[in-house]
Amino acid sequence: MELLHETLGEVTACSAITASAPVGPSQRQYANAALLLQSRLNPRSLLNVLQDTEAMLGRVRRGQRWQARTLDLDIVLWSGGIFAAPELIIPHPLYRERSFVLGPAAQIAPLWRDPLTGLTIRQTAARLSRWKRKA
Ligand code: AMP
Repeated sequence: MELLHETLGEVTACSAITASAPVGPSQRQYANAALLLQSRLNPRSLLNVLQDTEAMLGRVRRGQRWQARTLDLDIVLWSGGIFAAPELIIPHPLYRERSFVLGPAAQIAPLWRDPLTGLTIRQTAARLSRWKRKA
């Protein structure tokens, strides 16, 4: 978080860090957090810098998805609403189903509204909890 603050713009809010079980075959638990970043970068440039940061901090992409990784930086939402390019989709296509994203995100931006569903992050998190209780 400190590094992103130095390289990308102003980090205006940080969630607590919480542990979660891995998605896929990886064995380790993960530490998850969300932050609010104020940056002049457009979404593509932001993704490039995030991927450079992942690489710098030791993540190596070996083709398989969801492998054990040191760091995964995603863009969940941005102030410009919807963004769609071959390499980048915002809102992040899977964040609505991931409590390890919604929990931290709801701590720092509970009222941020998803431009596709019209729901706030808090409402999206509550909806996921209801689904999980029923399952
Ligand atoms: P992952 O291995 O789950 O981190 O997926 C990485 C790939 O997802 C990257 O190559 C990105 O181009 C792509 N991607 C699509 N949408 C997003 C997003 N909103 N945030 C981060 N990566 C994204």
